[in-house]
Amino acid sequence: MPIFQDQKGKNIANFQKMIDEKKHTICKYYDEIGHLYYGQYKDMNIDVTKDINARCESISNIYNEIEELNIKILREKGLKKCAICSTENQLANAFCFKCGARFADDDAIPADVIAPPNACATPPSEMKAEAPAPAVEAVEAVPAAAAPEEAGE
Ligand SMILES: [Zn+2]
Repeated sequence: MPIFQDQKGKNIANFQKMIDEKKHTICKYYDEIGHLYYGQYKDMNIDVTKDINARCESISNIYNEIEELNIKILREKGLKKCAICSTENQLANAFCFKCGARFADDDAIPADVIAPPNACATPPSEMKAEAPAPAVEAVEAVPAAAAPEEAGE
């Protein structure tokens, strides 16, 4: 399915581009932190702690966003990462094949669900949960002891 593959490739490239931009922003914050710190070194009367902390917080947030984008890229590839051992697993796995850790239920969301709704995708029929047939055996009430009919004389 070449069209399907192209769309996946486009999504991955898009996520990768966003990651690159975020990494660039992180570098900018690191640069600013360096300048702030140096400013304090030159003039002890300046307190830049607040400014530095604000940037550190932003950097932490961006790292989280990058991690989320990496997860999206993995999902496009049909993979997910174990939170315990970081091994890449098939999206359908309920447990990590390496360490056996259980995946959270929301890890099993197929990539199609979070993909942009641009393709005229038909809803997967397997999404419908099949109700199991009730395992009730029909037991007919049978008289415990059929009284033998005595033939009257
Ligand atoms: Zn694992």
